[in-house]
Amino acid sequence: MPLPHHIRFTVVAALMLLCSGSAVLGSVHTIRKGETLYGLSRKYNTSVSKLMSHNGIKDHRKLQIGQKIRIPGTSSGRATAKGATQSKSTSSVSTVGRGKTVIIDPGHGGKDWGAYRAGVRESSLNMKVASKLEYYLKQNGFRVVLTRRSDSFLSLSRRASIANRYRNAIFVSIHFNATRNTMVRGAETFYAGAAGRQLASSIHRELAGKCRMKNRGVRFARFSVLVQTKCPAVLVECGFISNSSERARCVTNSFQTTAARAIADGIRKYRWR
Ligand SMILES: [Zn+2]
Repeated sequence: MPLPHHIRFTVVAALMLLCSGSAVLGSVHTIRKGETLYGLSRKYNTSVSKLMSHNGIKDHRKLQIGQKIRIPGTSSGRATAKGATQSKSTSSVSTVGRGKTVIIDPGHGGKDWGAYRAGVRESSLNMKVASKLEYYLKQNGFRVVLTRRSDSFLSLSRRASIANRYRNAIFVSIHFNATRNTMVRGAETFYAGAAGRQLASSIHRELAGKCRMKNRGVRFARFSVLVQTKCPAVLVECGFISNSSERARCVTNSFQTTAARAIADGIRKYRWR
């Protein structure tokens, strides 16, 4: 019996999808419980609107568990190509982090907003850069631990004690800065010990260079989160949200991505011992 027309069409469409190869199949994401388009946009380094138009989604709230979402640009591969480009530029990038753990500490959280200027909360900026940093480090084969994943309060000693559970690890606390003088801007990275100093230099060189920020240098400071952490530990201040033009940059997805990639590059280049 011949198939009704609409079923025939579906079968042909499905075959076309299959025949177009593994690259297409590789760029399909199956929605799991709790996932959102926003979360996917961050994961695949794209935007919610691109995901919606690419998949013909009219209402982003009507996602269903098990729904297949095609990731824009990945059949020739934007999200994957970024990783691939990185892989080409350095040898065996995907394994460079094997056996190494990076504890990422998104500063502040919950009742502690950190700095706050013109509606911008430092704690949420920290989390955005931290999440992107996690993505890039995982692409390089690092094991990644975040001290917090939600907008929750965590004491400084708790952050250090999480870090102290791991061997062959480093600790990177992510912050944004603020001060009364609204002219002050730029990036600075703090350390409290010799191993931290080398890590701070490696990260800071990449951050200040790739983000083209004023370089305020690598600085010694006995911050308790650095002092209490046994592994090499640094605290990165990614920019001043008290400076209006720097704040306008810091809130953008592109700045956060560049900063996260730069920090990941600094971690990749750091000589672990
Ligand atoms: Zn802070």
